[in-house]
Amino acid sequence: MLVYKFGGTSVGSVVNMNHVKDIINTKDQKIVVLSAMSGTTNALVEISRLIEVGEGDAAKAHIKTLHETYTNVVNDLLQNESLRQDVHHYVNTRFEILSDAVGTSFSQLLHNEIVANGELLSTYMFSRLLQQEGFKARLLPALDFMRIDSHNEPDNFYIKQNLNRLIESSDAADIYITQGFICLDAEGKVTNLQRGGSDYTATIIGAAIEADEVQIWTDIDGFHNNDPRYVNDTQALSHLSYDEAAELAYFGAKILHPQTVMPVRNLDIPLRLKNTMAPQAHGTLITNKVHGEGIKAIAAKDGITAIKIKSVRMLLAHGFLKKVFEVFERYETSIDMITTSEIAVSLTIDNTTHLKAITEELEQFATVDIDDYMSIVCLVGNHIIYHPDTPELFQVLQDVNVRMIAYGGSNNNISLLVNTSDKLETLQKLQRYVFEGKGVGV
Ligand code: ADP
Ligand code: ASP
Ligand code: MG
Repeated sequence: MLVYKFGGTSVGSVVNMNHVKDIINTKDQKIVVLSAMSGTTNALVEISRLIEVGEGDAAKAHIKTLHETYTNVVNDLLQNESLRQDVHHYVNTRFEILSDAVGTSFSQLLHNEIVANGELLSTYMFSRLLQQEGFKARLLPALDFMRIDSHNEPDNFYIKQNLNRLIESSDAADIYITQGFICLDAEGKVTNLQRGGSDYTATIIGAAIEADEVQIWTDIDGFHNNDPRYVNDTQALSHLSYDEAAELAYFGAKILHPQTVMPVRNLDIPLRLKNTMAPQAHGTLITNKVHGEGIKAIAAKDGITAIKIKSVRMLLAHGFLKKVFEVFERYETSIDMITTSEIAVSLTIDNTTHLKAITEELEQFATVDIDDYMSIVCLVGNHIIYHPDTPELFQVLQDVNVRMIAYGGSNNNISLLVNTSDKLETLQKLQRYVFEGKGVGV
């Protein structure tokens, strides 16, 4: 069995939904994971925010506009009268539930229930399109099998049991459609896998059914060697290893949700990235094989906070680092980069939820300086630290204020911490030097 996941742009219009329908029309049995139509989750997040701040009228206006958009999509998507009426009925019900949320007391659960509507709508509409076209397709509700535990990790045993039970008990089908992103928490309440989480849904499902392959279909022809949102002339990579892809996704390559690679890496299931708008393009195949040498790709992650912790006893006394790490561990805050000197340790975090409490605890035995609006620029490739071109990198960046460097922690990664305001220049300079062969001063 295969798993195919289609992102927001891929299901973002009637034309694209029909492309998706053609792409999945192969003889392999598959589970198809869909995101919300592009723009919908953002619109739902805004509706939730308006409800939270008590702007009921504005929330209602947004709900009305979104409802009209969906009504038009349904009219264009379905020609079969009874299927069209069925989907209109479903859409109207979802929007009634949304309208009923306006004026009620706000909670995280209400927010999660609001943002879940995007995937509920796209999968319902798409399943009826397939029905209209005579496919043997079934809708599997993600909330009947997808669950995370109290540490926000997928509850793999529960997922496997319930997904397989659902497949076995439903009528035989060639295509099973399900929602990306949404899931239940450990208490059985609606939650999600964070923004962009449909990629993660696909690989969790891939692992649960031990799929032959997981394919992520998006709006670009695979994993590029630099961020195409900030750099011109980036190139698609035909192959990446799990470790390389995981590192790039973790350090900001938006094409994959940061956690996506983990479930398939453990089981050695190939992960393929493909372009819905250009299905003939090779895309990127991610496996355990490592291809090539030197720097393969660059990514950047924003929203980084740097913390410098200086021992009040001048020298880093025995046990100092242990005390520092224990504070971060207590607040379940992970550290991305770390460097040490004789008297201080600098590290970075991307989750500042507990920053105030962490700082207060650290200040009991150290002085603490905090810098925010930082970005990590991450260079990934096989054995890059041994590559002859690597030393020149630092000359290329001589005008950029590099705040921290992690070099040698792994053979395959070099990370640089820069101010977010310098990120663009850093990415562009690296692109010119690394991939366009233009060295220092070009
Ligand atoms: P989807 O809605 O299909 O999940 P996303 O917008 O989440 O799509 O991810 C695809 C986008 O990721 C691309 O359009 C591109 O702008 C962005 N992106 C960032 N870094 C990379 C990269 N290294 N390679 C390819 N795309 C990238
Ligand atoms: N719809 C969700 C989002 O916009 C999940 C996803 O697209 O992967 O974040
Ligand atoms: Mg995405």
